[in-house]
Amino acid sequence: MRRELDICIVGGGPAGMMAGLLFARAGLQVLVLEKHHDFLRDFRGDTVHPSTLELFHELGLLDRLLARHHNKVRQLGARIGGKNVMIADFSHLPVAAPYIALMPQWDFLDFVAEIARGYAGFTLRQSCEAIGLIEEGARVAGVRTRDGEEFRARLVLGCDGRDSHFRAGLPQTIVGAPMDVLWFRITKRAQPENETMGVFDTGRIFVLIDRGDYWQCAYVFPKGQGEAVKAEGFDRFKARVCEVGPETAAIDESVKSWDDVKLLTVTVDRLETWHRPGLLLIGDAAHAMSPIGGVGINLAIQDAVATANLLAGPMAAGEDPDPLLHRVRDRRIGAVRITQAMQKLVQDDVIAPVLAASEPLSGPPLVARLLDRIALLRRIPARVVGLGVRPEHVRSPEANGQVL
Ligand SMILES: Cc1cc2nc3c(=O)[nH]c(=O)nc-3n(C[C@H](O)[C@H](O)[C@H](O)COP(=O)(O)OP(=O)(O)OC[C@H]3O[C@@H](n4cnc5c(N)ncnc54)[C@H](O)[C@@H]3O)c2cc1C
Repeated sequence: MRRELDICIVGGGPAGMMAGLLFARAGLQVLVLEKHHDFLRDFRGDTVHPSTLELFHELGLLDRLLARHHNKVRQLGARIGGKNVMIADFSHLPVAAPYIALMPQWDFLDFVAEIARGYAGFTLRQSCEAIGLIEEGARVAGVRTRDGEEFRARLVLGCDGRDSHFRAGLPQTIVGAPMDVLWFRITKRAQPENETMGVFDTGRIFVLIDRGDYWQCAYVFPKGQGEAVKAEGFDRFKARVCEVGPETAAIDESVKSWDDVKLLTVTVDRLETWHRPGLLLIGDAAHAMSPIGGVGINLAIQDAVATANLLAGPMAAGEDPDPLLHRVRDRRIGAVRITQAMQKLVQDDVIAPVLAASEPLSGPPLVARLLDRIALLRRIPARVVGLGVRPEHVRSPEANGQVL
């Protein structure tokens, strides 16, 4: 099968789906290819930050998004050396929704797909894996799929995540990360208040994401030690999880064997060039983000908005996108570099020392104690995490599309 398209997007994650929505909204013919048959990618986390909620406010879709089940996180806390501290307060941010909405990302992506399907030019193909590029001379002209289909397009947008097929040959900077994560669920009783938190203790960091009737747990350990953790035995692992606190008491019922525990490797890197003629990479495909701050989904979405702002109007007017592609990287690279630098600072100054500690932590460090004591100070991390560096605003055109 052959089809002519304006834009073929590879990857139906946050970057790809948001770009698909915005390009279709501008009246372009858009095809999104997603290799899985659904949006259930457990590794992505659940944080929809105030910057992302603001974009949906600008699109007039915030109420519809928030009609989906979610929990509001207005403050972020941590338990450090056994003491609970408050470290960020989002409630003063100058946006329509000053909180993090914790919404499983499959629900979030399903919502974006539902809106995008309201535009005539949008098509999403699931269970459809791109395996190669169609090249004409030095230019990318489309993609080939595992099933032998070919999709030609004026632009291929690589949104296929950190192991992107399309990175080959593009210069890369490795930032690195000192940790990996074991990822599993522990059942719990649903509470009206969301209790997501990080627990920092001697040699251990544990994140509990409140997903209603279960905790999504992240057991953080030094990079490359996954096999060593497993070699200590399943019972030792469960005992360590139990030490976290009363929240993890139900581990025996929830985690029966290593099959219930997934190893997630953390990667932090970025491409220094995001395009070549006919091809542009955004989101994790262009810059894999550390889970610190839960900013990866939101940065991927900011990339998609910037891409649509810079390309959708000109492409709708029939312009060749190639001379414009560099502008996306030029606009976004500063935000990526600064965000990764902040993540590296936290990795090097907090995560690595805590994971290496053998003496009991004497309690929260000075900066955490100050944030806990002085409410005004808690607005600073809230701004950095909630709005990020260089938040984007929707400027791409809406053709004539009535959102259904
Ligand atoms: C342990 C961990 C926890 C995290 N927690 C959070 C968090 O809480 N909040 C947050 O904001 N970020 C978090 N992140 C980061 C976040 O997951 C990413 O930054 C974000 O998902 C990037 O979005 P994306 O659309 O660029 O890529 P992805 O989410 O990776 O999506 C890429 C999509 O492309 C598809 N695909 C890949 N190859 C092909 C192909 N050849 N053909 C078709 N489809 C293809 C994949 O199936 C996938 O659906 C976390 C990361 C890790 C490692």
